[in-house]
Amino acid sequence: MSFPWSLQNLPKQNFINNEYVDSTNEKKLTLHNPADASLIADDVPLSGEQDVEAAIAAAEKAFPTWKKMAPTQRRNIMNKFADLVEQHSVQIAELTRVSLGAPYKAFGAFEIGLCAEAFRYNAGWIDKFGGESWPQDDGFLKIVRNEPLGVCAGIVPWNGPVGTIGLKAAPALATGNCFILKPSEKTPLSSLALGTLIKEAGFPPGVFQVLAGDGSTGALLASHMRIRKVSFTGSIPTGKKIQEMAAKSNLKRVTLELGGKSPAVVFDDCDLDNAVTWTANAITANTGQVCFAASRVYVQEGIYEKFIAKYKEAMQAKTKEVGNPEEEGKNLGPLVDEAQFKRVTGFIERGQQGQGKLLVGGQRIGDKGFYIEPTVFTDVDPESEIHCEEIFGPVSVVRSFKTEAEIMHLSNNTNFGLMAGVFTQDINKALRVASDFESGMVGVNCVSLCFLNAPFGGSKESGLGRECGIHALRAFTEPKTIMVNLNY
Ligand code: NAD
Repeated sequence: MSFPWSLQNLPKQNFINNEYVDSTNEKKLTLHNPADASLIADDVPLSGEQDVEAAIAAAEKAFPTWKKMAPTQRRNIMNKFADLVEQHSVQIAELTRVSLGAPYKAFGAFEIGLCAEAFRYNAGWIDKFGGESWPQDDGFLKIVRNEPLGVCAGIVPWNGPVGTIGLKAAPALATGNCFILKPSEKTPLSSLALGTLIKEAGFPPGVFQVLAGDGSTGALLASHMRIRKVSFTGSIPTGKKIQEMAAKSNLKRVTLELGGKSPAVVFDDCDLDNAVTWTANAITANTGQVCFAASRVYVQEGIYEKFIAKYKEAMQAKTKEVGNPEEEGKNLGPLVDEAQFKRVTGFIERGQQGQGKLLVGGQRIGDKGFYIEPTVFTDVDPESEIHCEEIFGPVSVVRSFKTEAEIMHLSNNTNFGLMAGVFTQDINKALRVASDFESGMVGVNCVSLCFLNAPFGGSKESGLGRECGIHALRAFTEPKTIMVNLNY
């Protein structure tokens, strides 16, 4: 199979009804390479109303056949797609890297593998997601069918542009829905390239489509009267708008995966090296642009000085890994673009004006591209901006604490609730703290990780609903109860 897309031949058309087509909108997206700020393209589609209507019409046409396709056939198509994604992992990653800046070994390979595995995992569910039945003791047999919703949309962010496709498209398609993908305006190229593989895998026209665009395209999808569900990953303000648009239009279902400011609580009795490794990795993976990064680190006073010395050392070692994402050994690329660079450096500058003490980092690296040193603030004021807000860069804040009660209060004193971590060798304390965290996910002696078979998502303002596992299938289906009168 030929995969025509490369940096020399960028995909710049939407993928609708199994064909690459030009957008009818005159406005276009412009992309820059964050490694050196050079222009990549200024003619990537910014889909407008007509493009959205065309994709929805094709999806509605495809839905009746797709939902009734034999489970084995649907499974085979999804598995083939997974194989093709894996086979072209390097080229797909290149199309992401050119506008995200993420190195292949440290990030690209992981997130593309996640996408492929999500397709396999959900394909495996197709003939196992049975309904329910309830006995006829009262004279009525109740049969509950899990039915697909219809045309669904996935609106995804730039920080994990291919991995998030797997988490949304795979369960949507496995359960018989048609799926329209709207990638971020910052990272549309790898998504557009998937069209070739969608067709090759055997998805019928209209089942799986890709519309590049920005927030205006996302809003057209979220407010559309014939889209039945939006699965969204991105920021909290946009998530709130999407829920509002869903409510004001057709009350479409929404799943929201939003931001975080996740705490890691390190007790005196932990394995110190393990705690340092996990917390340092958590805030530097993908240059800190990860929703569930452990960005608040709380360390008990008995181990505080030792932890700080090792954490500083680990972050300084990470600094040596920052650099051109195409260079061997550079595991931390630049921040995604100038806007994100200004946002992160703004937090760092203001943080130094009385919010905390700069322990390490804080400087730009080089004068070209958007590279930044991994940065740690200690003794941070719990009311300060750097302690309370999501920075979305390689910047963590550290505080010491005395008691479990005190630190659980501080950990939970936030409207975020995505991830948390506890480091201790006392199993009772670990389980007590794990249940006391107000968050969708908790790591014990680990943090900032996820698995395809276990629910993924946030509580409070970090999200609504869950991805992964059977929860994703439920989120893309609705139970229908059929009542059979056996007395008739
Ligand atoms: P964003 O909210 O700016 O954009 C996300 C997507 O929404 C993009 O595709 C964008 O085009 C679209 N969009 C923007 N405005 C819209 C509107 N009015 N209507 C419909 N769609 C609209 O977020 P981002 O900057 O791309 O991503 C960073 C944020 O995502 C961070 O807050 C991060 O924590 C969060 N995130 C969360 C998870 C998770 O699983 N919880 C994962 C990754 C990222």
